[in-house]
Amino acid sequence: MWEYAPAPESRDIANLRPSYRMFLDGEFVEGGGEPLKTVNPATEEVLAEVSTANSSDVDKAVKAARRAHERVWGRMPGAERAKYIFRIARMIAERARELAVLESLDNGKPIRESRDVDVPTASAHFFYHAGWADKLGYAGLGPDPRPLGVAGQVIPWNFPLLMAAWKIAPALACGNTVVLKPAETTPLTALVLAEIVQQADLPPGVVNILPGAGDVGAELVGHAGVDKVAFTGSTDVGKIIQRTVAGTGKKLTLELGGKAANVVFDDAPLDQAVEGIVNGIFFNQGHVCCAGSRLLVQESVADELLAKLHARVSTLRVGDPLDKNTDVGAINSREQLDKITSLVESGEAEGAQRWTSPCPLPEKGFFFAPTVFAGVSQAMRIAREEIFGPVLSVLTFRTPDEAVAKANNTPYGLSAGIWTDKGSRILWMADRLRAGVVWANTFNRFDPTAPFGGYQESGFGREGGRAGLEAYLDV
Ligand code: NAP
Ligand code: MG
Repeated sequence: MWEYAPAPESRDIANLRPSYRMFLDGEFVEGGGEPLKTVNPATEEVLAEVSTANSSDVDKAVKAARRAHERVWGRMPGAERAKYIFRIARMIAERARELAVLESLDNGKPIRESRDVDVPTASAHFFYHAGWADKLGYAGLGPDPRPLGVAGQVIPWNFPLLMAAWKIAPALACGNTVVLKPAETTPLTALVLAEIVQQADLPPGVVNILPGAGDVGAELVGHAGVDKVAFTGSTDVGKIIQRTVAGTGKKLTLELGGKAANVVFDDAPLDQAVEGIVNGIFFNQGHVCCAGSRLLVQESVADELLAKLHARVSTLRVGDPLDKNTDVGAINSREQLDKITSLVESGEAEGAQRWTSPCPLPEKGFFFAPTVFAGVSQAMRIAREEIFGPVLSVLTFRTPDEAVAKANNTPYGLSAGIWTDKGSRILWMADRLRAGVVWANTFNRFDPTAPFGGYQESGFGREGGRAGLEAYLDV
């Protein structure tokens, strides 16, 4: 046995400050709400105090966004808007290391992921949408698409900076102004993005960032001055928002939960599939709406695949998110850890066979060892409910028809994966899977040019790509 030498990234790079303020009408100001303390989930230490909005701040922000839309941003030629958006994209890239370390501190995700996925993809979203700003009339959405006005946006904690980019970039490109509420446990990178917005010299009020808890989100989506609501989060909250917005004429997109099937056929290259399965469920501690959380394996290769999977998962290193050798970081909050623990207990109680990696776990902080359940049946909670953690449920099938039936047997429909050597089978399956994204012989690939979104209880509307523009335009 040999050990890896520690390879920690320095936390000084994050430029962490003791307190952060909200961003309203171009200024950083103290909010009227009770300040919140954001915690490093890997150590349970308080990172910073963050001011939060109250309802009068939400009102001020929406009015500032309205003024900015009417006087400047909504009238500006697309080619001019594009220059600002390009500037934001470049500044994110320039501050990439700082943003990555800050994201890992606040969220608990491994630095390898924040550095190689979250931050570059956030920058890419601004680059991509900057390119659209002066070409909206050629997007195939009608000859003269118009901005909607003020967008109220609420995002979750699993990809804090990236979700902010997914929301803000298309809104700005289409000529809308924005009021965004980051998640309560991960507000910091959104506030650095606000700094970037300020330094990029965007007119005051075009982007407003208001930290706070769910009540601030509810206030924002219910505000009469908002023309468009964009929400990413849980299906339960999505339903509440849909009720709030019903009958108001506000345009709505919902990106909600998932319980994706990752389907492995007996002709798949198994070693490659194992890598895809690991990436599908252990990337970002499984805090991924499109995670491949239900593995469907063809019965004839199930034992072989499971043995390979256990061997591979045993090598995953769980621990300090800032260490460059860490594969699985911290669970984002005590609350989420409790939710994962209780669903795993339900799996055991319902008779599934639990295997948990023997990896050592840090003594402090919120951690959960990678876990694989075999012998899972479709009725079990761990096959139906989103666990949102590093826990995989394995089911088997015999025929392609059975694979399709089982894969689609879910109230969700965000993503799916197919592993097979046959191109014709990929196309046959993709045609039948009720999922917004279907990956073939890969998993969890993200690109700003590709639309992303769900069926059924995974929500509606698309983000990214040409299709994603429609959510921010009156066509
Ligand atoms: P959540 O509880 O729904 O929270 C999402 C956001 O909504 C947070 O900012 C939250 O504030 C806010 N919020 C809570 N109650 C609200 C209300 N009544 N009105 C308006 N806003 C409210 O979800 P989460 O636990 O943070 O995130 C995990 C979920 O997000 C998972 O189900 C996951 O699948 C889903 N997700 C989906 C996608 C996608 O693209 N489809 C992407 C990522 C995550 P607080 O921070 O104070 O709770
Ligand atoms: Mg935090």
